[in-house]
Amino acid sequence: MNDVLQTIHEVCRVIIENITNPEKRLYFGYLISSTALAYYVYYKTKSKKTFWSYIFNKKTWLSQSAKVDYLLLIFNSFVKVILIGPYLFFGLYIAFYTDDFLAKTFGYESIKLSVTQTLILYTVSLTLLSDFTTYILHYMMHRFKFLWEFHKIHHAATTLNPITQYRIHPIELILVNCKETIVFGLVMGLFDYLSVHQIEKITFLGINIFSFIFLFFGANLRHSSVKLKYFNFLEYFFLSPYQHQIHHSNLPEHFDQNLGSKLAIWDWMFGTLLCSNQVKKITFGISKEEDKQHKYNSFVNNLYLPFKNIYKAISNKMK
Ligand SMILES: [Zn+2]
Ligand SMILES: [Zn+2]
Repeated sequence: MNDVLQTIHEVCRVIIENITNPEKRLYFGYLISSTALAYYVYYKTKSKKTFWSYIFNKKTWLSQSAKVDYLLLIFNSFVKVILIGPYLFFGLYIAFYTDDFLAKTFGYESIKLSVTQTLILYTVSLTLLSDFTTYILHYMMHRFKFLWEFHKIHHAATTLNPITQYRIHPIELILVNCKETIVFGLVMGLFDYLSVHQIEKITFLGINIFSFIFLFFGANLRHSSVKLKYFNFLEYFFLSPYQHQIHHSNLPEHFDQNLGSKLAIWDWMFGTLLCSNQVKKITFGISKEEDKQHKYNSFVNNLYLPFKNIYKAISNKMK
């Protein structure tokens, strides 16, 4: 009984931490900066609505789609509480063996970075590698049918609000976290080696300046109906919130585009980039063929349908 209460307490802490921790997208400071940016867009569109009804639109926040988002946020917080220990352990394990491997192969004589050099290069490398591998994983989720079945949950949202970023299947959550842990372990191990252990490991976990900039400049608007666009040239380097909204469009010509996270350069390099000025109107969701009976409107179905669909596809192939 005590364990159950302890787990519930931890889950509540994880949920509340979303608002109080500056490393989280929903941190109240970023919600304020996103609201300020939303006001700028509202002012530009010369909407007749009040600003309040522009951002707190009932159709967006109280839709059935949004309710599924909220339930998945709570459910995924349970998954996080259970898996956070193994992730940290796994990350430190990879870092330790990366450092050990490099030391045994190359020795320590050749190079030694200063603390400042290490922290700058570490932050840049981690940001680039993490963003690039996020692009690759996201690309694979769109490309391979069995991964798409899980990722489809995120795209099945028909209204977007900042909580929609948590509308992901637990299997996707585990894949994303494993990927992040491997990248983190490798980069940390490399820089632990290059700096010859001058830095406490805990420092490597600190907030990253690039993440801060991304989060401050409207990351929360990516999942919203506020069409914040950047200058056209800038959208080749950084994905604007509207470019991510295009990623959620239910029109076939927008499918599998803008797969990046923070940077647009990977989409640009691999030909999957759509800029805001190329798209006039969008509605969110998956194609009609993918969800003929609106099955993705229920929380339980979102958890269970990927397994059912994969099982069906395998049985059909074996016939
Ligand atoms: Zn996607
Ligand atoms: Zn999204």
